[in-house]
Amino acid sequence: MRISGLQKMTLLDYPGKIACTVFLGGCNFRCPFCHNGEILDAPEAIMTEQELLEFLSKRKGLLDAVCISGGEPTLQPGLALLLERIKQMGYLTKLDTNGSRPEVLKDLVSRNLVDYVAMDIKNAPLSYAQTAGADVALERIEESIRYLLEDHVDYELRTTVVAQLHDSEAVKLMGEWVASVMPGKKVKRWFVQPFTDRDTVLFAGLSRPDDTQLSEFVACLSLFSIHSAVRG
Ligand code: SF4
Repeated sequence: MRISGLQKMTLLDYPGKIACTVFLGGCNFRCPFCHNGEILDAPEAIMTEQELLEFLSKRKGLLDAVCISGGEPTLQPGLALLLERIKQMGYLTKLDTNGSRPEVLKDLVSRNLVDYVAMDIKNAPLSYAQTAGADVALERIEESIRYLLEDHVDYELRTTVVAQLHDSEAVKLMGEWVASVMPGKKVKRWFVQPFTDRDTVLFAGLSRPDDTQLSEFVACLSLFSIHSAVRG
């Protein structure tokens, strides 16, 4: 288990809850806009799992939930065991995932180890590899989408939008693609997250879409989702 970062308290990561966020190192994507570039190659752990559990034990009553983020957490072989221990302490748990490992997502949810899932949808199918910075098996992403649409667990989809990678046509195609996974079923929540530049971003020169574009994106995704909004 490579714990590469810990945000000790956040009001933003778990809807309506006081949470901490644990960042697990290593990712199979290389999204050019990624903020966590320094942990994608799984650097040294900043703490052991035992130290994390001791921290969580001390925060019982102060925190409601633990968000597991990355990197891509589902790549970590010890994830289920870690979540089991966190759940035993009485915490709600949230999983952030790029959706590339549907079998892990299904396993964790079916064992009641995850209470909320936030899954990234990177772009329309033809732009997926470019936006993820890696070859992506889209059928695996679709399998994860389908599982979430089946309502096994509370969830949201989220798309980080970048002026150089997303326009209204791409967002429309992305919405149509997701909708085609389970015709007639709308996404529960789909958030548009405008890119923000930071020192740790993988590629320089990217920028945020303007407010008019963001409104267009939300209007477009609202055709395919029950709730859609800009976040961040
Ligand atoms: S933004 Fe992309 S590269 Fe960064 S952690 Fe998420 S999936 Fe991996």
